[in-house]
Amino acid sequence: QLQRLESLKGRKTATKSGKKIDVYANIGSEDDVAYALENDAEGIGLFRSEFLYLGRRDFPTEEEQFQVYKRVVQRMAGRKVIIRTLDIGGDKQADYFNIGIEENPAMGYRAVRICLKQPEIFRIQLRALFRASVFGNLSVMYPMIISEEEVRQILRIAEEVQAELEAEGYPCQCPEQGIMIETPAAVMVSDELAELVDFFSIGTNDLTQYTLAIDRQNERLADYYDPHHKAILRMIRMVVENAHKHGIRVGICGELGADTELTEEFVRMGVDELSVAPSMILKVRKTVREIS
Ligand code: PEP
Ligand code: MG
Repeated sequence: QLQRLESLKGRKTATKSGKKIDVYANIGSEDDVAYALENDAEGIGLFRSEFLYLGRRDFPTEEEQFQVYKRVVQRMAGRKVIIRTLDIGGDKQADYFNIGIEENPAMGYRAVRICLKQPEIFRIQLRALFRASVFGNLSVMYPMIISEEEVRQILRIAEEVQAELEAEGYPCQCPEQGIMIETPAAVMVSDELAELVDFFSIGTNDLTQYTLAIDRQNERLADYYDPHHKAILRMIRMVVENAHKHGIRVGICGELGADTELTEEFVRMGVDELSVAPSMILKVRKTVREIS
């Protein structure tokens, strides 16, 4: 079995009828790039940048971040690397952000909400990302989006940062920018959101939590946390349709993307990319290749 999976390395991932599906890796640290490469990931579909901010006393500097992003895109050698901007807050806390105690952290001050309220933090990360983007195939992705206005504000800041870098003499860096679809609100306005960005990636972990009103961390509710719920599958279908209507690509980067019971359904819906834990890549590729 293992040998059969090994033999898929270096071969393209397409269904029997020739529909190509990108199978990418989710990573949470620079070290994980090794696992992604070992498992022949065709790209990185979700690089959780939080690790740069966690387990330390102060914000990582622009230079520090730039070096990490640059090394990652260089090691991926031309393969796509989608880096998600900080998703601090909720279950991922760093004291120096001074978020304080919240009654409902999953619905609290987090991710792009922090970035828009404290743009000085956001700008540093964007500068590092845009500077690194000329060293490989880098895309930037924004988490926890709920509205068009939020996306417009983000893109405005990104444009300012690009202009600033250019004025400082850096070569033009205009990487693709996409958003995570992981709130029911984003699903419902995905038609409009698709006009604003280059790609979507569906975060089924949070989408399940917010749609079913089930805390993804609460063990007691584990039986209720059901990403196979019809509501979730219908939402995914809706997001794919809206993305394609506007000619943008759509992937799934939540855990559900690695669920091989659903791979065929995702392919039929038209999902372009599945981003999964490195250990699941070959299994998902094998499943795609068996679809007729
Ligand atoms: C998700 O919510 O599905 C996701 C991929 O992001 P995270 O698990 O980091 O919240
Ligand atoms: Mg999420």
